Amino acid sequence: MLPDFEISCEKFSQCGIELSREAYEKFDIYAKFLVEYNKKVNLTAITEPTEILCKHFIDSACLLKYVDIKPESTLIDVGTGAGFPSIPLKILRPDIKLTLLDSLNKRIDFLKQLCDKLDIHADFIHGRAEDFSKMPEYREQFDYSCARAVANLSTLSELCIPFVKVGGSFISMKGPSEDVSRGTNAIELLGGKIEDITDYSLFDEQRRIITVKKISQTPIKYPRNSAQIKKKEL
Ligand code: SAM
Repeated sequence: MLPDFEISCEKFSQCGIELSREAYEKFDIYAKFLVEYNKKVNLTAITEPTEILCKHFIDSACLLKYVDIKPESTLIDVGTGAGFPSIPLKILRPDIKLTLLDSLNKRIDFLKQLCDKLDIHADFIHGRAEDFSKMPEYREQFDYSCARAVANLSTLSELCIPFVKVGGSFISMKGPSEDVSRGTNAIELLGGKIEDITDYSLFDEQRRIITVKKISQTPIKYPRNSAQIKKKEL
């Protein structure tokens, strides 16, 4: 399904990431299952093998190149969809303790079956981020929260920062057009501070990773409920 091992290694190495044979085999199983499952449940518009490799797997893996994820840390992927970015991270860094959250149960069902096939341990949450981050068992419990392609930076901050412990980080994977200034007010209100903005190119497309450090607890009134979040950004 995926381009062969040598070609896939070359593509990963063009982005400065090493690919082992073992990780390649997991990515290959992932690609096959994604395309198969996608015939009955809408998971992705990207189904061509080289595109899956570059636009899903390597794109997700770039987070590890630009952010130093501490060993054995806990990470929640908010609005993970078909597992991006966090399943590629877990394939490359099995030490990460992963929680996958999405509001669509059909995607969580896919992820449970995928993790079985890949022999990956993860926790799964079916529900809205703004509901679960109010619960004591999830609130400020994670070293990292991350998200790719879920919402603008202001909304995403409200969905993701409440999950992070003070001292941890929220990592947002974005396209180049993201207006960071649109998120700065929300980030501050939620107890965060922009630590780093990295712009890079991925196979000629521009990408941006925004890292927000959690510097103080999120006030109890956040996140607001989903109707309020939709109505007005912080
Ligand atoms: N992160 C994946 C990726 O990069 O391919 C999926 C992106 S998809 C455009 C957005 C996903 O976020 C969908 O699977 C949707 O169900 C989920 N989502 C949107 N708002 C959410 C919320 N408030 N709580 C949980 N999941 C949410």
